[in-house]
Amino acid sequence: MNTLALVVPCFNEQDVIAMFYDEVSKVTSSLSAEYSTEIVFVDDGSSDNTLKLIKDLALRDPMVKYISFSRNFGKEAAMLAGMNYAVKADFIGIMDADLQHSPDLIPQMLDYVTAGGYDVAAARRSDRDGENKFKSFLSQSFYKVINKISDTKISESAQDFRIMKSSVVKAILTMPEKIRFSKGIFSWVGFNVKWIDHANRERAAGQTKWSVSKLMKYAVDGILGFTSFPLRISFFVSALFTFCSLVGLIYALIRNIINSDYICSMPLTLAAIFFVGAGICVSLGILGEYISRVYTEVKDRPEYVIAQTNTRNKFYGTEGAE
Ligand code: UDP
Ligand code: MG
Repeated sequence: MNTLALVVPCFNEQDVIAMFYDEVSKVTSSLSAEYSTEIVFVDDGSSDNTLKLIKDLALRDPMVKYISFSRNFGKEAAMLAGMNYAVKADFIGIMDADLQHSPDLIPQMLDYVTAGGYDVAAARRSDRDGENKFKSFLSQSFYKVINKISDTKISESAQDFRIMKSSVVKAILTMPEKIRFSKGIFSWVGFNVKWIDHANRERAAGQTKWSVSKLMKYAVDGILGFTSFPLRISFFVSALFTFCSLVGLIYALIRNIINSDYICSMPLTLAAIFFVGAGICVSLGILGEYISRVYTEVKDRPEYVIAQTNTRNKFYGTEGAE
């Protein structure tokens, strides 16, 4: 008997939990008797009724597991907690709770990772219909930049929605970084991936949890986590300054030889000082970003704190036991 565990990060998803469960259990019950399935809801510190709804489902259905965080730690931490628990299954899936990731793809994905000889079957967005134009622009620009400067290539249309063999998840879990950028991690571990085109779907209910500022932070985490190229910018900037100052020096010398009364103008000098100052600040800023990340990694704090669970997971709350 094969085991399949579907990890579902949830943050304030009370409007979709029941719908999600109905749709997914319809699909999983249609799978052959070869499969035993678990849905692992990871409640990422929701402040609405999400956890209560999940617990009600768990009372009715033993295939429902939940891991509930002590506060909101972010989707990356929720996926990690889910994978840490689910890695014991033969196949591990990740999908959003809002039904933007169509459960109908699950059987096809399973076929690819079982009979198809693939290690991962992952969904790839075939369009961006219905998405906020500004967010689409930011997202496309981000992927263009990161793919230019990083050795880890990340497909712009790749989604977190995927089913992986446990060997892939084991490899993912060996990556110890605290500031996690899963799209990069999925690509970094490699393996044989089957991409499945998936039309963009509207959220079934509720609202997106990703504001533009959250997305920007995510983009910065992605770039700094997967390339040291920005550190090299300071080298290019200093080369540019050296060149400019040499040109300026030669120019001033020649002017002095031609006309001994020549004095370099004040505004020009000030502009040069500001120019150099700004360059130094940019370099220090980039350095600071990396150092702050090194500091976060060195502190080695846990990525999340579990307050309640019905899994045999390490938790710090008062409830639990499988
Ligand atoms: N999510 C989460 N923690 C967060 C933000 C989001 O667990 O801090 C979950 C959310 O409940 C959903 C998934 O991550 O299941 C994707 O979030 P959302 O649908 O808001 O993002 P979008 O689809 O708009 O990119
Ligand atoms: Mg969504």
